[in-house]
Amino acid sequence: HDREQGRDAPIALELEGVTKRYAETTAVDDVSLAVREGEFFTLVGPSGCGKTTTLRLIAGFESPTTGTVRFGGEDVTGVPPEDRDVGVVFQNYALFPHMTVGENVAYGLNFADAPGGIPDERRVQELLELVDLGGMADREPDQLSGGQQQRVAIARALAPGPDVLLLDEPMSALDAQLRERLRLQVREIQRELGITTIYVTHDQEEALAISDRLAVMRAGRPEQVARPREIYRRPDTRFVAEFVGDNNVFAGTVTAIDETGARLEVGPETLTVAHEGDLAVGDEVVFCVRPEELRIDGDANAITATVVSAEFLGETTRVHLEWQGCERERKRKRELLVRTRDPLSGHVVVGFDPDDAHVVDVLE
Ligand code: ATP
Repeated sequence: HDREQGRDAPIALELEGVTKRYAETTAVDDVSLAVREGEFFTLVGPSGCGKTTTLRLIAGFESPTTGTVRFGGEDVTGVPPEDRDVGVVFQNYALFPHMTVGENVAYGLNFADAPGGIPDERRVQELLELVDLGGMADREPDQLSGGQQQRVAIARALAPGPDVLLLDEPMSALDAQLRERLRLQVREIQRELGITTIYVTHDQEEALAISDRLAVMRAGRPEQVARPREIYRRPDTRFVAEFVGDNNVFAGTVTAIDETGARLEVGPETLTVAHEGDLAVGDEVVFCVRPEELRIDGDANAITATVVSAEFLGETTRVHLEWQGCERERKRKRELLVRTRDPLSGHVVVGFDPDDAHVVDVLE
């Protein structure tokens, strides 16, 4: 079900015009973002786009070159990390190897209350139960799996009762199956506590699966900030369309517009896309169609193409088709991607509904 988590909640944290420069590199470029209380918000993007730096600016490990960071409306730009109410979990667990699981979590508690004081055993136990490690307090970290260690790190980060939880690629060291399990657990813990969470990942699928909202970042800026469905179905830009999921990108020229849609000359074909209200004859248009929206033997927008290769993925097969009109130029030839259950070979006709085409760029 589609939760409307945090829609009307007050703003928990906010970046306003935040830029971070290192010598020649602008790691974060004039970013403004607002995250609501209880929201699970993800920063996703390719390597080097500034995700980690943005998170470090929120945590207070870095200070911005310009701009303001606010927590609950209060300017915390110059406030050190220990005085911001944040819990942080890094990629590589960072547990103390010589301490037991319980002592690791207790460290998080002591850190908050009385350094060196007697840990509150009951609270440690509660936190371990929260991350589903109830019986593990006496284990050493090296007796745990990677996923379990990461859950201890989460319990330790949550121990002081922070307002905001920051997670930097917490699953990237784990194998695919563990990652999928842990992401469900992380989401459950977050919901149970209702804690505002900022999550960093380069994995677009993980970002879609775990978030209330996400920012797809490119070159130091969020290119689109929206809920997962909207990012997938209505990408604002070509970059977002291609970064999130598989996509087919087409470029063409509008030759006619009527009530059925806009006619575009695309390579050797004339294709119709839903007229979204702002197209005019002569416009150069970039649009995309998801591979699962291309239908074999579909009669709308029929395209004749040749099967190049197929990857069996279990639930579906991803078929690569060669076609002159497609804009996508990777290492392969110009190709179309189709998702299908049926085996395909030779020449095929694929089509798509004009409503399933989504315009991402218009050059007038
Ligand atoms: P990755 O997924 O690879 O971790 P990222 O999206 O988290 O990437 P950042 O680590 O935020 O990206 O880095 C953004 C840019 O800033 C990169 O070009 C990086 O090389 C640069 N950068 C980050 N930290 C520093 C630093 N301390 N000194 C100099 N340049 C830095």
